[in-house]
Amino acid sequence: MSSDQSLPANHLQILLASRPEGRPGAENFCSREATVPSPGEGEVLVRNVYLSVDPAMRGWMSDRKSYIEPVQIDDVMRGLTVGVVVGSTVDELPVGTRVSGPLGWQEYAVTTPDQLQALPPGQPLRLFLGPLGMTGLTAYFGLLDIGQPKEGETVVVSGAAGAVGSVVGQIAKLKGCRVVGIAGTPEKCAWLRELGFDAAIDYKVDDVPAALREHCPRGIDIYFDNVGGEILDACLAQLRRGARIPLCGAISQYNEADVRGPSNYLSILVNRARMEGFIVFDYAKRYGEALQELGRWVAEGKIDARFDVVDGLENAPEALNRLFDGANTGKQIVQIGPEPT
Ligand code: NDP
Repeated sequence: MSSDQSLPANHLQILLASRPEGRPGAENFCSREATVPSPGEGEVLVRNVYLSVDPAMRGWMSDRKSYIEPVQIDDVMRGLTVGVVVGSTVDELPVGTRVSGPLGWQEYAVTTPDQLQALPPGQPLRLFLGPLGMTGLTAYFGLLDIGQPKEGETVVVSGAAGAVGSVVGQIAKLKGCRVVGIAGTPEKCAWLRELGFDAAIDYKVDDVPAALREHCPRGIDIYFDNVGGEILDACLAQLRRGARIPLCGAISQYNEADVRGPSNYLSILVNRARMEGFIVFDYAKRYGEALQELGRWVAEGKIDARFDVVDGLENAPEALNRLFDGANTGKQIVQIGPEPT
């Protein structure tokens, strides 16, 4: 086996301690020091550098039927990470290879190659949790496959200054659409205008229905829904005939015991519209094609990405709540350890 000689004996893991009711709190997690494992035959040891912090984590903490099994109590909390191979018995993944995978809230993990994606050199590691990672792919397939934007159409995206939303808006601009973003602070709205959005609505101070009427005078062709709740209802009320609604997420509902459905849903009928839910993992076979195009847009400066970095794995529970507080601009990540040199 080849290995990095400077490995510590122990490492930090964060486990799910209990299931939250409402907003997750520190009491729902616990930490432990575990022995850094050694890779067996056909395995690699990865040092995690960044943890992706995702709204979906709130769902994984609940014992509810979903697209994936809940995290079990006392298990390491689930999460996507990017990191570097520091021990290996696999020729194709030698020490020093940069990888991404579902390695969880811990500093080190042993895993098998089928769980990992080797990352190409030359790009900052964090990009593979943003536009060149799961959130970029979500924006890409949700907008292009389900939304099917056409030049000149009006696209509205909520959660617009977040990881998925900011990429949705920029791709929609590349496709020649008029793009209106909805976000929760004046600073976020200013950033959206810098990114080239045609208008930005601050849903915490603006009258959303009136602002949508003003900025979408011909109605909404595509509403990319990241938040659900009242914003979904306001957008439904202003659909154009033949509108498409990629249902990506509903963060306004994730901490609620009773999920609130849209009351304006008859607008879908009247406007012959289509609302379709999707899970990015179902597109796994097509990641390659999407990453080529996303990679080109990023390299050409056509997609800009911001990262909100919380330092230290021990602060991951706090980082999760930044999503529900709207404290993050761009992709929320936790830095677990130093970038490889
Ligand atoms: P973001 O980076 O967008 O962070 C979440 C943002 O949601 C916050 O910054 C906040 O911004 C906004 N928000 C929080 N609470 C509310 C609320 N009550 N009403 C309106 N906005 C709120 O997260 P992601 O980009 O990672 O995820 C965006 C959505 O995409 C989520 O719903 C997530 O579950 C979903 N998703 C779905 C996937 C799929 O396969 N279907 C895959 C990945 C993500 P603000 O200041 O604007 O309020």
